[in-house]
Amino acid sequence: MPESAEEVYARVVALVGERGRLPMPPVHEWDIFPWEVVDAGLQPKVVRAPADEASRTGADGVGCLSCTGDGDAVLVWENERWKLTHPPAPSGLPLVLWLSSKEHLDYPDMDDDLAAEYGRISVWLCRIMSNLPHVGRVHVNRWGDGSEHLHVWFFARTARLPGVLGSMALEWDGMLPPVPEDVWLADIRAVARRLATHDGRALV
Ligand SMILES: [Zn+2]
Repeated sequence: MPESAEEVYARVVALVGERGRLPMPPVHEWDIFPWEVVDAGLQPKVVRAPADEASRTGADGVGCLSCTGDGDAVLVWENERWKLTHPPAPSGLPLVLWLSSKEHLDYPDMDDDLAAEYGRISVWLCRIMSNLPHVGRVHVNRWGDGSEHLHVWFFARTARLPGVLGSMALEWDGMLPPVPEDVWLADIRAVARRLATHDGRALV
């Protein structure tokens, strides 16, 4: 059984005290760390004491923008149970797409059939995006800390761009200048149409 927040916090306090800071990681040695260490330096935040979990958007399906379609996500592909959407505007990485269930449920709530279908679509989508020219790799992420409705992120990163790698590629997504809109839309269209050769239908 994993540790509780209290148990983890107790170990932190035992190590560095209630207001103490954990040791600074060697960011100056991290090739992919996207911030420069300057005079003021960087340091870890103080670990805060355990508290209640924040309520998520669309908790229990109430006011869920994914269910109502009132959010800013743009639908580009769907089948009976799944939909593929993209943010309203391009960002620094070549493509950022969301694969979401149509039903309101959380990731651990998938039954075996839905999970199997998720697995297939996820791999198709990752492969299709990875095969786009100049895409180095596609990072597949499920966090679920913001919205309760099942959604998985697919981040395509540019190949041969030193440092824009791994989890830090997500930081670069917000720092690099946005991809030209016509290029971005053409790539989204290509992915949706290619995915439709496996299942579902493209809407662009
Ligand atoms: Zn929902």
